[in-house]
Amino acid sequence: MDGRALAARVRAEVAEDVRELGEIVLATVLVGDDPASARYIGLKHKAAEEAGIRPLDHRLPANTPEEEIVGLVAELSAQGDVDGVLPQLPLPPHVDETTVIGAVDPVKDVDGFHPVNAGQLYLGRPTLVPATPLGIMALLEEYDVPIAGVEAVVVGRSDIVGKPVAHLLLQANATVTVCHSRTRDLSAHTLRADVLVAAAGSAGLVRADIVKPGAAVIDVGQNETDAGLVGDVEAEAAQRAGAITPVPGGVGPMTIAMLLRNTVRAARYRRGQLAFPLGRGLT
Ligand code: NDP
Repeated sequence: MDGRALAARVRAEVAEDVRELGEIVLATVLVGDDPASARYIGLKHKAAEEAGIRPLDHRLPANTPEEEIVGLVAELSAQGDVDGVLPQLPLPPHVDETTVIGAVDPVKDVDGFHPVNAGQLYLGRPTLVPATPLGIMALLEEYDVPIAGVEAVVVGRSDIVGKPVAHLLLQANATVTVCHSRTRDLSAHTLRADVLVAAAGSAGLVRADIVKPGAAVIDVGQNETDAGLVGDVEAEAAQRAGAITPVPGGVGPMTIAMLLRNTVRAARYRRGQLAFPLGRGLT
């Protein structure tokens, strides 16, 4: 399953939407100088610019007090010309991420991490949904992978990937199992999976012999190893799977594309073209 090709199409669609909507602004807040976070912010800005979205780049030193970060996020949320607000995670250890995420106006929460958006997803009425799970669902749809009635197994239960993708699969009528580090017998579950999403952050955790023959396998993992960037799924699994996402070139490019799509969605909420279920100004 080629994430690069699909992501390119989504980005082209976003660019068309931007032309229709006029100026769209995505504000990002980066705290500290973590190189990986700086790289991600750079990629997001580049992709936004290519789609015609104007990035607003805020950078704060690592020792910025929590109140100041929360203040900036709240200010951007209140700003009339800003469509999306994205505090880059992880934040430094002295900062409570929940507090910062809570300061984002749910209508501008392009990451979909605010409790209101997480709650809407849980209730089966998704609003702004995290980008990586959206990218996974888009890939499954693009490759006509059946979901209704099938066994779907998600390895990982993070708020960013595992839990939201489990909810999306459930909503699409899969029978969903969520595995995690305390799961007793991982292979007993994965071997039943018609759709297998590996999002544990552990290189090679999903060996080829624990993949059900013919399964659709989504490898979310991004693990830096001596051999370069690898996923959570052993390379040999490609011989057993019916379809599989490569690393790199699978889920990764989809994540940025769906972030841009979320920014367009937020822009439509702000312009009243789409109704946000609970109204605005909830924070
Ligand atoms: P987290 O570390 O937040 O969560 C990892 C999850 O995997 C946890 O629920 C953990 O269980 C579970 N887990 C860890 N080890 C095992 C194991 N041996 N067996 C079963 N379950 C296990 O990671 P994220 O969800 O943020 O990310 C997961 C991976 O996806 C990472 O490699 C990350 O880099 C990548 N990623 C890729 C993205 C992309 O765009 N391609 C975007 C986001 C993430 P427990 O809860 O019990 O600790």
